[in-house]
Amino acid sequence: MEQFSCAAELLRHRRPDVPVLCVRPHAAARAVEWFRDSFPGRTLYAVKANDAPDVLAALHQAGLRDFDAASLDEIARVNALPGAQAHVMNPIKSRSLIRAAYFDYGVRTFAFDSAAELDKILTETGGARDLTLMLRIVCPNTHSEIPLEGKYGVALSDAADLLMRARAVAERLGLTFHVGSQAMSPEGFGEALRTTARYIATAPARIDLVDVGGGFPARYPGLEPPPLSAFVDAIAESFDRLWVGDNCELWAEPGRALVAEAESVLVRVEARKGGTLYINDGAFGTLFDAAHANFVFPTRALRAGEGEIDGPETGFALFGPTCDSFDHLPGPFMLPADIGEGDYIEIGNIGAYGHVMASPFNGFGRYERVSLTDAPMMSMYDADTEARPADKAGALG
Ligand SMILES: *Cc1c(COP(=O)(O)O)cnc(C)c1O
Repeated sequence: MEQFSCAAELLRHRRPDVPVLCVRPHAAARAVEWFRDSFPGRTLYAVKANDAPDVLAALHQAGLRDFDAASLDEIARVNALPGAQAHVMNPIKSRSLIRAAYFDYGVRTFAFDSAAELDKILTETGGARDLTLMLRIVCPNTHSEIPLEGKYGVALSDAADLLMRARAVAERLGLTFHVGSQAMSPEGFGEALRTTARYIATAPARIDLVDVGGGFPARYPGLEPPPLSAFVDAIAESFDRLWVGDNCELWAEPGRALVAEAESVLVRVEARKGGTLYINDGAFGTLFDAAHANFVFPTRALRAGEGEIDGPETGFALFGPTCDSFDHLPGPFMLPADIGEGDYIEIGNIGAYGHVMASPFNGFGRYERVSLTDAPMMSMYDADTEARPADKAGALG
């Protein structure tokens, strides 16, 4: 893969015709290091946020060894990394996935949220007694930009029986939840762990691990979460209050927070109509969340031959290249007032749920891939970001 110091340097060499994914492996590594130094437990990476081989390699090279994988393809990618271990936290799986995961890939951790799924796991692993079984529970998603509730999780009233049945066959028994993606307040995790306490109280079953899932936020314009240390502090405090033994392990499985900063995309303006720019990537490409969750990403305008364009900025809406009207990114994206056809825009922090969502719809979906050595456009991991007092860094979104 070609490497440049920044997007402007890339444009000094050529004027790409398709969107360019700009990978920053050092940003992924910095996130891993932060979690290793700051999270008081084991950190898994949720592969669905970004499964690009170079991103997985960067996380692995930074020392990450545990991965949350939901499909056989993800499990295979994880297994290709030396010493890496996949854990299947998807509560509903096909029988063939369970068999292959257990017998071919050495997976021992499986999530479930019903008696039928527990039976399925036990049957397809041949009655294995070396399993780590993770009961997915229901927790509030009120503090997250992208709630995930309503799909998975056992109701509190049905949990006792499942916990006792799983305890009887599991080597290790855990509880897991997901507060929703892009949690904007540490209180989301506090509430979820208080909910966890109620599940633990329903049955006299020893709990060996508690997995707080994903949801750790990234920084976007207008969506400035409190520092990650506030999330970790809230988790540590609530975890300490749980009625579990001293040996109970704490796990987390961030996706977004580990990789959001690890990629940007360099797009070209194909046309301008007033306050709207037509660009060569969009909702069916790496900018799904801009269309469907109204995310605004940091932007930087570049003109081939001139480098970064300065000047007074105004807010623009964007349209992607397909002929579908859902391919609309309302923004507003702050860009120089004189931007026009032929200019480029670097759109930052699209490393999570970006390129993984891209489809070949309408004949688009081709990208170049390069690596950049400059800093991500906005970071949760800067020293000054970490120093921000939590109460002054409230969400605008
Ligand atoms: C998607 C997912 C994650 C990662 O969520 P983020 O919001 O990206 O941190 C973690 N665990 C499970 C089970 C998931 O489905």
